Amino acid sequence: MADEISKAQAARPGGDTIFGKIIRKEIPAKIFYEDEQCIAFHDVSPQAPTHFLVVPKKAISGISKADPADAALLGHLLIVGKKCAADVGLENGYRMVINDGPDGGQSVYHVHLHVLGGRQLGWPPG
Ligand code: AMP
Repeated sequence: MADEISKAQAARPGGDTIFGKIIRKEIPAKIFYEDEQCIAFHDVSPQAPTHFLVVPKKAISGISKADPADAALLGHLLIVGKKCAADVGLENGYRMVINDGPDGGQSVYHVHLHVLGGRQLGWPPG
């Protein structure tokens, strides 16, 4: 079984996460965008030549736990993701992904948008 899937199956919601520590600058990450609502940083285990995450500062554990009141924040993640994709040179396209829960392959229970590009991506995902 792929390592990422093993991690996702072992992960459980609840409590602080590694992304909380990155947002609070308690541990390092390759942050290249930050505003009052979110940060973007490069994934430590990239699945494509470019792979970064857009993470809200608000700790929502997953997209399935988001509230309608979070709609503007979640839309903001998409807009920041597309701006950052352009800034890092993904002019030929990219994919945005939000994994949710064990079957979705979520390993960090702080909602985040993956942006992947720099190669031809396959479909359907595994
Ligand atoms: P997911 O499996 O959708 O929850 O995605 C979590 C992502 O966070 C994975 O792609 C991990 O490689 C990435 N990740 C975990 N820890 C770190 C870290 N310290 N810095 C950057 N990315 C991380």
